[in-house]
Amino acid sequence: MVEGRPSVLVVGAGIIGCSVGLELARHGWQVTVVDRGAGPGSGSTSASSAMVRFNYDSLPETALAWEAAARWNAWPQHLGAVDPAGLAQFVRTGLLVLDGELTDHARSLRHFDELGIPYEQLTADQIRERFPALDPARLGPACRVEDDHFWAEPSGELGGFVQPDSGFVTDPALAAHNLAHAAGQAGASFRWRAQVVGVLRDGGRVSGLRLSDGETLEAAVVVNAAGPWSSSLNAMAGVLDDFNTSTRAVEQEVISVPAPPGFGLDDGGTGVHDPDFATYFRPHPGGTIIVGSFEPPCDPLVFVDDPDDVVSHVTAETWEVQSLRLARRLPGLTVPSTKSGVVSAYDVTDDWIPLYDRTSLDGFYVAIGTSGHQFKAAPFVGELMATLVDAVESGHDHDADPVVVRGGHTGVDVELSYFSRRRQVVAHHGMFKG
Ligand SMILES: Cc1cc2nc3c(=O)[nH]c(=O)nc-3n(C[C@H](O)[C@H](O)[C@H](O)COP(=O)(O)OP(=O)(O)OC[C@H]3O[C@@H](n4cnc5c(N)ncnc54)[C@H](O)[C@@H]3O)c2cc1C
Repeated sequence: MVEGRPSVLVVGAGIIGCSVGLELARHGWQVTVVDRGAGPGSGSTSASSAMVRFNYDSLPETALAWEAAARWNAWPQHLGAVDPAGLAQFVRTGLLVLDGELTDHARSLRHFDELGIPYEQLTADQIRERFPALDPARLGPACRVEDDHFWAEPSGELGGFVQPDSGFVTDPALAAHNLAHAAGQAGASFRWRAQVVGVLRDGGRVSGLRLSDGETLEAAVVVNAAGPWSSSLNAMAGVLDDFNTSTRAVEQEVISVPAPPGFGLDDGGTGVHDPDFATYFRPHPGGTIIVGSFEPPCDPLVFVDDPDDVVSHVTAETWEVQSLRLARRLPGLTVPSTKSGVVSAYDVTDDWIPLYDRTSLDGFYVAIGTSGHQFKAAPFVGELMATLVDAVESGHDHDADPVVVRGGHTGVDVELSYFSRRRQVVAHHGMFKG
């Protein structure tokens, strides 16, 4: 605890903002988390598939996920406080990653070897033996249902690899609540139903926030953790001058179907990444499977200017293509006539890599652009941001000499330069998800 530290405002009480608030409070800052919602996790966090896995294209993202997973595994210890609302649970299902065009397995596995992350490579026969409900046929490349190729005979078989330590978190909004509760115990306070409409500056430094009711809140440091709304906050702060990437909100639909025999949570099911036919899916409590998209080039991305404008229910198009893609992979699946699932948005950068950084406005930081895959990382992102804020506010030149944060559980080093606003950005359509 550092005595007399000035105040920090965190905008957003999603899984990221709650984690940032917790760790900043632990580092001794006087923290207030401000959210326009009525409680923690009301943004994209509540819709998250909450999958925890480690296959990424880059070492820093792999390391971030691996260290964060150790925290999900020791959730009560990580929180250090018992939330009366109950505890989110990490369920270790493992993840089967099938071969497919949209990912580079060799690269992912090199990172696994480097970091000591367990995995096992499987042939198609071994996949069939271990997961009899799943057909490892080569069906891709993914296409729309109306394309003749959708129903074509398989062109071969797929191998893959299993990462046994993967899984999911049962209730993502509750996980945010757990972090918020722990942050409160560590001294942070929360302002609910408080909409930020302005960022206050004093010369070249942030000095606080203006709320929609006209109230102003003063602070030495502000962290933008506003999720899909992050770009509007950056615009208020006027900090985009040296960002090499934008953040934009993209609509996301995740459908839910009854699990076929042999693929339920306690019945042989596992998490699956299927880059061949462009879905990810996992068994869910209550006998269902939730199915998200790998964003193949044939599926248009739906960007929204205002995240509040996302459609309120699963569309017929998404329901059809995703349920039928899953039915080809899990032949025992019965597709129900009633659509079910969640729709939300998340904020993506041009290269689908998050932004964990300072900005050109002194004291204004960003933990944004989580691009559909940072729920899992959140328990460690808080510490990355608290370490960054400590360093920069103590005079460290992060842009010239980027901060590296070591994971206390796994000993991995995460280089924050990888998440810099000034990184070289290679734009692409999408990224493997969940
Ligand atoms: C459908 C879907 C599936 C996903 N699946 C996975 C997965 O399997 N695994 C994984 O790791 N990740 C997954 N993700 C991504 C993950 O959920 C997000 O990366 C994460 O939840 C982002 O959290 P956040 O705190 O940044 O944003 P949010 O949860 O959106 O929180 C932002 C908060 O900021 C508040 N806010 C915004 N603007 C203002 C303002 N002006 N004033 C006050 N408050 C404001 C909002 O009310 C909101 O509560 C998924 C996301 C979606 C949508």
